[in-house]
Amino acid sequence: MSNTLYIDGRWESAQLGETKEIRCPADGTVVGTVATGGVQDVDVAIDAAKNAFSSRVWSDASGEDRGEFLDRVARTLEDRLDEFAKAEALDTGKRFVEAQIDIKDVVACFKYFARSARGDAGRVIDAGDPRVLSRVVYEPVGVCALITPWNFPLLQAAWKVAPCLAAGNSLILKPAEITPHTAILLFDVFDQLGLPEGVANLVLGAGSTVGARMSEHPDVDLVSFTGGLPTGQRIAAAAAKTVKKLALELGGKNPNVIFADADREAALDNALNAGFMDSGQVCSAGTRLIIEESIAEEFVNELVERAQQIRMGGPFDPAAETGPLVSAEHRDSVSEYVRRGLAEGARLRCGGGWGREEHSSGFFFEPTILDQCQRGMSVVTDESFGPVITVETFGTEQEALDIANDTDFGLAGAVWTSDQGKAHRMSRLLRHGTIWINDYHPYLPQAEWGGFKRSGIGRELGHSGLDEYREAKHIYQNTEPTVTGWFSKSS
Ligand code: NAD
Repeated sequence: MSNTLYIDGRWESAQLGETKEIRCPADGTVVGTVATGGVQDVDVAIDAAKNAFSSRVWSDASGEDRGEFLDRVARTLEDRLDEFAKAEALDTGKRFVEAQIDIKDVVACFKYFARSARGDAGRVIDAGDPRVLSRVVYEPVGVCALITPWNFPLLQAAWKVAPCLAAGNSLILKPAEITPHTAILLFDVFDQLGLPEGVANLVLGAGSTVGARMSEHPDVDLVSFTGGLPTGQRIAAAAAKTVKKLALELGGKNPNVIFADADREAALDNALNAGFMDSGQVCSAGTRLIIEESIAEEFVNELVERAQQIRMGGPFDPAAETGPLVSAEHRDSVSEYVRRGLAEGARLRCGGGWGREEHSSGFFFEPTILDQCQRGMSVVTDESFGPVITVETFGTEQEALDIANDTDFGLAGAVWTSDQGKAHRMSRLLRHGTIWINDYHPYLPQAEWGGFKRSGIGRELGHSGLDEYREAKHIYQNTEPTVTGWFSKSS
């Protein structure tokens, strides 16, 4: 299947004819062959998006119609849920049951933005003058370039595509090159449901060519990117040349703070989940365990025991509890990260290896715990994006706060305590975009998601997630024009 670029309402192969084999990270089997686009394909797709936007075929559709379209997308995804989940599981290597949850979240995202599309038409302002009609209206930004990563391929795309369409824009989506299949299926749904030509375009290909061209192209009005910090910095620099609107969802180094008075069983179970879900390939993973000294030794001993029992396996292995890393390169980078930590003085409590013989055909990495970690060590400051939990300890609430805020990132974090006052104080003082109290990982499409500091710019989901894709315009109308007399009239 190499007609996998969707441009101006048609399935196309890449102009240069290049293709790429996609392999399942769990066992290396080929799961498909897709087109690899280039700069030429991007330029044609951007032209199509620009023409669609200029025609106003989508931006002038009523909010009701746009909402109805997004609802139909959600219903179709629900009907085809297992087909999408299977494609996601094969591309990423994650368990099929986890992929099913991801696709359900995609459905919820489309439903939420279907409601938003129908909602807010702007607001009337009291100008303090009965002759004046003043109102703020929201308009689509224009042509949007959406660039997404491989860890939750369709979900990260949905967080952008759904609000982008809800607001009336045209778009070009570029998913990560190694996980393209659910994006192709989504565009199949758009095609079947009759989205007007050129409104949504799909260009597959490398970040350094396709992504870079999308970020610099003068006809792109907005770039929304989810991925790593270095790529985000490159995109921001490219987008700055023509002052594009920019939304960046970048990495995290997320603290999971556990006080001695926390519900121990729940804190322990969730600490595993925080760090090892999806093999730690989660931007908000709680891989920085910050635990009160008085309970640290016993808690970490039990955490290590539980981590050693986690069963790794492929997408359809019913005994598996977690899957592989996404690629050999990524596994090498996680291995190197652990090696650096050990060289800096961290102690390996469990993991660090690539699993048993049965895991050798995939890119598995064992759940790993490093204790005796200190602020300033690279394993504490850098994101591994793998299943590696580092352990730091604290004596006082202030110390816990200082450690948890001592990061260049600011995406998410959690506090575990039975003291409501402490929970509230910590939640307000932690400099991260999402704070969980006595929980880890849940999010809601109605609530904003995004980071402080180097975790990004802007917010996805919630009201702000729609606003990223809209321009606010103030219309001030004087119903009784008069002479101002500001300048004197020469006689
Ligand atoms: P990445 O930055 O390598 O790639 C992300 C996307 O950017 C891919 O589609 C890639 O092809 C493209 N890209 C690469 N170079 C580019 C360039 N020069 N110009 C334009 N596009 C380019 O990230 P990744 O390895 O795919 O994903 C992992 C990172 O994503 C982690 O740092 C993780 O924390 C972050 N992430 C953040 C969130 C969030 O919500 N904040 C969510 C998921 C992942």
